[in-house]
Amino acid sequence: MIELPQGKLFIGGEWEEGSGEPITSIFPADGSLNRVLRGASKEDGERAIARARKAQADPAWRNLKPHERARYLYAIADGIEENAARIAHIQSRDTGKTLRETRALAASAAGTFRYFGAVLETSDERLTAQRGDALTMSIHEPLGLVAAITPWNSPIASDAQKVAPALAAGNAVLLKPASWSPLVSLELARIVEAAGLPKGLLSVLPGSGREIGNLLVEHPDIAKVSFTGGTQTGRAIALKAAEKLMPVSLELGGKSPTIVFADADMDQAIAGVLFGIFSSSGQSCIAGSRLFVERPVYDAFVERLVAATRRLKIGHPFDADTQVAPLVHFDHRDSVAAHVRMACAEGAQVLCGGGIPQGEEYEKGAYYLPTILAGVPNTARICREEVFGPVLVVLPFEDEADVIAQANDNDYGLACGIWTRDFPKSWRVGRAIRAGTVWVNTYKQFSISTPFGGEKESGMGREKGREGIRAYMAQKSFYTDLSGGPLPWAGAAAGVS
Ligand code: NAD
Repeated sequence: MIELPQGKLFIGGEWEEGSGEPITSIFPADGSLNRVLRGASKEDGERAIARARKAQADPAWRNLKPHERARYLYAIADGIEENAARIAHIQSRDTGKTLRETRALAASAAGTFRYFGAVLETSDERLTAQRGDALTMSIHEPLGLVAAITPWNSPIASDAQKVAPALAAGNAVLLKPASWSPLVSLELARIVEAAGLPKGLLSVLPGSGREIGNLLVEHPDIAKVSFTGGTQTGRAIALKAAEKLMPVSLELGGKSPTIVFADADMDQAIAGVLFGIFSSSGQSCIAGSRLFVERPVYDAFVERLVAATRRLKIGHPFDADTQVAPLVHFDHRDSVAAHVRMACAEGAQVLCGGGIPQGEEYEKGAYYLPTILAGVPNTARICREEVFGPVLVVLPFEDEADVIAQANDNDYGLACGIWTRDFPKSWRVGRAIRAGTVWVNTYKQFSISTPFGGEKESGMGREKGREGIRAYMAQKSFYTDLSGGPLPWAGAAAGVS
């Protein structure tokens, strides 16, 4: 039996009870209690910040050579890999995700630490083209203290995506995970501690946005907030950041279009569309939640899709064949159900799903059936608002121009899927859609070396990729005189003949 973290917080390298609002972590497959813990209060946050400040300024950290600092990231990656089964279990308990998925997330988190260690070791600074009697360089330095604020849907992966580049860049990090999923981030803290990272460089501070979230955003010592979560929260953070002129990166929500052209390989498209919306029970920022199907194949495609959706295996997160696991929380299931009711009130027709699955095995869990809705225009609220659950809306389209217009007629711009055998068409359409990521004949595939982020209300800034580390650094220009003499303008005044 894998033991869950005890629930103490990691405050500047010390394990201490929080003194903020209580947090209850449940296992959404049966509602059983994981842990009740006290979240971080403002005082806890202040203590973490003071310790982070000291640790970040310490020459023992600040003056490390890149290859020396990279060793910590490799050690953390090793620790994650050694504890992968434990991490997967804890994250499945916290979020209800299948073990198959949480194992993959643990592997991805290890890969992220390894990748940013390698990026750090291989990021050269730049000598710029000389234009005068000075050696000119462009170099990068740590920002100082970085706050990483993450959501509940893929915590270990979201945490790693921020903590790894921020540490690699030489900062100290204050990580605030979401209240529905505090445990796996505390487990990450244990691994980071075991990897020998100097105390104070990482704090893990679960707690409410109101209490600890606000403190981190508003505190004058925090030089950057890297946020992943909902658009409304992201906007509130950006407004506060503007007050103190602090850089932010924002990975926000989505309502991503997937487009099936009549010439697509239908088997490939059915499997891709299903995976795009129903994997992770739809709790994914990049979920392909608006499906556009070209009119000539619309009826046949939707009929096959509905039949395939009904065959998906809904079940316990620990069962190896489960495809659709419970949602993260009963409150979240209520919110998904409310969206479906709203869609029905707007005139949507429920082609499948639209409720809670029946059967003893589902009675205690936060399950919701994979749901397909049709019969509403792209302007309906269900086509505009993020549901963040297993709910797909299908719409027909007439031609390329029509689908580009409909796909772009949305506040979000995170991702897009295109299914066609016509390469030039996929290129034209993919270029025309406003989205941070386009997948052609595939969906939800990721690589740490490929930047990720959104447009419009899906956010700003990019994570991952070689440049990902620069988002946590301050660029500095350096001029060193090569002439050996005084500047001519003041030379006479300075008494130089
Ligand atoms: P959320 O916005 O409610 O919360 C995200 C985090 O922000 C949590 O840790 C929360 O406690 C914190 N927070 C809340 N109010 C705050 C405040 N005022 N100040 C500082 N922090 C505050 O989002 P959620 O429900 O946890 O996650 C779901 C959302 O995240 C969805 O909209 C989803 O699309 C988005 N998401 C985006 C990406 C991406 O990369 N674009 C990835 C995953 C999830």
